[in-house]
Amino acid sequence: MPEPADSLNFHDQHGRYPQAATLDDFVHTLAAVRARVDAACRRVGRDPAGVRLLPVSKTRPEASLRLAYAAGCRLFGENRVQEALGKWEAMQDLADLHWSVIGHLQTNKAKLVARFASEFQALDSLRVAEALERRLQGEGRSLDVFVQVNTSGEASKYGLSPEDVPGFIKELPAFPALRVRGLMTLALFSAEAERVRQCFILLRNLRDQLRQDAPANIRLDELSMGMSGDFEIAVEEGATVVRVGQAIFGARAMPDSYYWPAETVLT
Ligand SMILES: *Cc1c(COP(=O)(O)O)cnc(C)c1O
Repeated sequence: MPEPADSLNFHDQHGRYPQAATLDDFVHTLAAVRARVDAACRRVGRDPAGVRLLPVSKTRPEASLRLAYAAGCRLFGENRVQEALGKWEAMQDLADLHWSVIGHLQTNKAKLVARFASEFQALDSLRVAEALERRLQGEGRSLDVFVQVNTSGEASKYGLSPEDVPGFIKELPAFPALRVRGLMTLALFSAEAERVRQCFILLRNLRDQLRQDAPANIRLDELSMGMSGDFEIAVEEGATVVRVGQAIFGARAMPDSYYWPAETVLT
């Protein structure tokens, strides 16, 4: 069994992330996070090449994103569509920069996502799948998608209940513009490593179980799980994508309740 990751690296450590303000800062924070991902891989005998680091740039000004780009980032994760669209428009000069939308989507915003995003990680309803499919067809584009699963059982979290995921996956071949890559989750916000870990184990088991008889064009290779406070545990449990904001950019001024539907209380 892997050793649990250091208990200091938890969700309640927001005060510990210094602000990245210079190119040098970004080079260092990116290298430090990458080194922690690689070390977590080695603890459990995984190849570090199997884990992608997705820098989450929500709330950060364009100038910070440009520094992160200069430090090597070519894909940014954004929670809110409008904010992402604004940044995409402002940074058109960077032709090789791509955008991943990682937050809940309302159907009336599907049109925007279809226009600029290369990845959408929060698919949680057939209505959104339909809206995206129609808009993507219109744009002549396709989109990598992850199905969001609520692994913590918290009513405040978006995502499908684990028991609803198999039926949902079966419907997805009807949307050929959506290239299904895997599952995504937000773990329980807790300082108890074991409870956080259980969320990641649940997602991995679900993926393993579904992968066996997934429809032909549905790939379930990816597990997007782990954020600044818990990415090492997620990597130990099989994450192929970690979504990391604060440990790269610095602590966010905005409370997380701004991004998620209700205040989540530390347990
Ligand atoms: C903000 C956010 C993250 C990153 O959180 P950090 O604490 O900044 O690492 C990851 N996933 C989602 C869905 C987010 O909204």
